[in-house]
Amino acid sequence: MIRPTTARIDLGALRSNYRHIVEFLHKDGGDTPPGVIAVVKANAYGHGASQVALALEDAGADLLACADIEEGLALRAAGVKAEILVFGALSVSDLDGVFDGALTPTISTPGAARAVQAAATRYKQRVRYHLKIDTGMNRLGFRCDNLARTLPELLASDRLELDAVYTHFATADVPDSPLFEQQRQRWTRALADVHALGGRPRYRHAANSAATLRDARVWCDRVRPGLLLYGIVPPPLASTVPLQPVMTLVSRVVGVKGMRPGEITGYGGRFVAEAPTTIAIVPAGYADGVDCRLAGRGSVLIRGRRAPVVGSVCMDMLMADVTGLDVAPGDEVVIIGAQGDQRIDVREMAAAIGTIPWEVVCRVGARIVREYARGDR
Ligand SMILES: *Cc1c(COP(=O)(O)O)cnc(C)c1O
Repeated sequence: MIRPTTARIDLGALRSNYRHIVEFLHKDGGDTPPGVIAVVKANAYGHGASQVALALEDAGADLLACADIEEGLALRAAGVKAEILVFGALSVSDLDGVFDGALTPTISTPGAARAVQAAATRYKQRVRYHLKIDTGMNRLGFRCDNLARTLPELLASDRLELDAVYTHFATADVPDSPLFEQQRQRWTRALADVHALGGRPRYRHAANSAATLRDARVWCDRVRPGLLLYGIVPPPLASTVPLQPVMTLVSRVVGVKGMRPGEITGYGGRFVAEAPTTIAIVPAGYADGVDCRLAGRGSVLIRGRRAPVVGSVCMDMLMADVTGLDVAPGDEVVIIGAQGDQRIDVREMAAAIGTIPWEVVCRVGARIVREYARGDR
């Protein structure tokens, strides 16, 4: 038994996206093109971390990144052998997983440094870590303007081994923001400071998807795409990389109903039929990650046509206006993806409801079964 609302994940498209990103980096990356850190945090942006990570490994990825230790351990349990970088702060985490799962921690706060150092001493091990430097986002990371005060202790530790240094851009997808260039310059200075303090990282990385598309000068030794892997270009940027969407969200019509003029559908009665109207009932709602704001703003595809979402998105279902279409229970409904010559992509849906594409895919609910198509190798 499988619920009618499912997310189809095209692992062939995922591997193809990975390879096209690598190709892009090789074309424009000079003599030493950067490598990739494949970002699979948040259940691989809702696509299913285990399957996605294994497919990326298969495509050649040798370094994956996740948000926390628990995500890293889930990848190990799925059989992932590649190196796994944990992005998140570790100052209040149970660190046993770092050792049990052979994960690579980020040290981004003095608290994390102390915690990892103490755990490494307990395990009688030396831990290779990535140092995160804050160049202006003011989230995690050591402030870039006082490294001389904060770094010596880390660099002197015989339990901690600096493997890489990284930073993160706050406005890589905001073309006219001056902060990107400021961060880029601070990053260059911070790398020089790390060197002057005796730090000799194997590599440096800074670019998320948007920064990768925007400026080859911040590619450094590795880039960290998430969104691009899943076939989504961060708006408002454009890309020449031939990416394919990886996720399709589909359902089936479970009911069709005629409404008379003046009648309403859905909670709050916000949609009133002005003329005889036919609605299709689709068993996908906000508990499945279908955003409430789609009512009155978005559409789904039924019979190759756009059917506006009307009334309200409920917890477990939504209603679509199919007036004039020959719709019957059992008909396929595409919520994200293509049907006939129509396509609703994640960027369009995100724009319709005033959010970002990352949120749309990450929110695809836990009860939605992911069906994996392996694609050609
Ligand atoms: C999520 C994340 C990325 C990937 O970002 P995209 O915009 O999806 O490419 C890269 N680096 C860090 C530190 C992240 O947290």
